[in-house]
Amino acid sequence: MSDAPHQLPVAKPVLDEREVEAVRRVVLSGWVTQGPEVAAFEREFADFVGAAHACAVSNCTTALHLALKCVGVGAGDEVITVSHSFIATANAIRYCHALPVFVDIEAGGYNMDPDLVEAAITTRTKAILCVHQLGMPCDLRRIVEIGKRYAIPVIEDAACAAGSEILWQGQWERIGKPHGDIACFSFHPRKVVTTGDGGMLATANDEYDRKFRLWRQHSMSVPDTVRHGAKQVIFEGYPELGYNYRMTDLQAAIGREQLKRLAALVTRRRELAEQYTRCLSRIAGLQTPAEPVWARSNWQSYCVGLPGWLDQRNAMQALLDRGVSSRRGIMNIHLEQAYARSESHRAATTLGRSVTAQQTSVILPLFVQMTDADVALIAEELLSIAAVAKAAALPAL
Ligand SMILES: *Cc1c(COP(=O)(O)O)cnc(C)c1O
Repeated sequence: MSDAPHQLPVAKPVLDEREVEAVRRVVLSGWVTQGPEVAAFEREFADFVGAAHACAVSNCTTALHLALKCVGVGAGDEVITVSHSFIATANAIRYCHALPVFVDIEAGGYNMDPDLVEAAITTRTKAILCVHQLGMPCDLRRIVEIGKRYAIPVIEDAACAAGSEILWQGQWERIGKPHGDIACFSFHPRKVVTTGDGGMLATANDEYDRKFRLWRQHSMSVPDTVRHGAKQVIFEGYPELGYNYRMTDLQAAIGREQLKRLAALVTRRRELAEQYTRCLSRIAGLQTPAEPVWARSNWQSYCVGLPGWLDQRNAMQALLDRGVSSRRGIMNIHLEQAYARSESHRAATTLGRSVTAQQTSVILPLFVQMTDADVALIAEELLSIAAVAKAAALPAL
């Protein structure tokens, strides 16, 4: 990261000699693509989230593609999701030649409003793709209940949510058990743990898991790992269309080290988020993110809603001038040019809250190398920026 000495970035992965050593071991082993490290990472990840199966892939976008395909999403089908997400969420639906159907987000948060889902269901609805945005679990209990009632599978875009938890039938469980049918994770460096790029599909369904493993490797009937160790000549077949969505053993080795750190990383992120919320409560009208009683975020991102009199661009520029990087809140997919054509999506509701969220929210730096003093300083800067803006917004006397 090429930040100036005093520039605080928005995010920063935690990587050190442990990851270097892990990669070294793999390089010297001579087997660098999908192999024993991937298998071990999958077992360890499945244990961590409490899933029966975890299947590693190249990234979360490919995970979402396989998940949607697996529950039967195809040409002419509809998938209910949110526009207020990273573009990959809806792109994966379009890879299946299906139509993303957008519903708005909830009031006071950035996740799918469960009240809007039922009315968006049509005879073509093949899946609900909900997102745990910024690491904050969405209202899965209600979304899964709707999915069950209509026999529509629920896929969780858990790209940001490794280490997040949800209260499920009285027990705290990790996102990825999964509580829907399939949960998809990302290990991009912007997430809480990283493998450079990488993804994971978690499911309780044996048949789904078998398909993920087939499809990620060109639908090859006998994987190279098996042929490599075989005492007899084996010819593989390709019974159906597949993909190259593999994770490499180099990535998986890094992932295993990252996974060992994950619980501690989340603990520290939760402390930093709490401190932000305490410090920022002094800014009247600023909306700090809040966990519902049934959710524990991993705080992949800490996103605040600015009051009307505090302009987003001005506030972000003023922060940058003071050495603090920030990012605009989550994008809205339906506003992008790639979604401009009417065949590219359908809005099942007004998307007013989504649009407002994009225009008025700001993501503040949150990474475990930060100190409590950094958080206090950022809050102080924002307080002074807000004070100046508020004074300017008052009618001249
Ligand atoms: C990061 C992200 C993705 C994409 O993950 P990749 O691993 O980069 O493909 C998908 N959905 C959401 C909500 C994300 O934040």
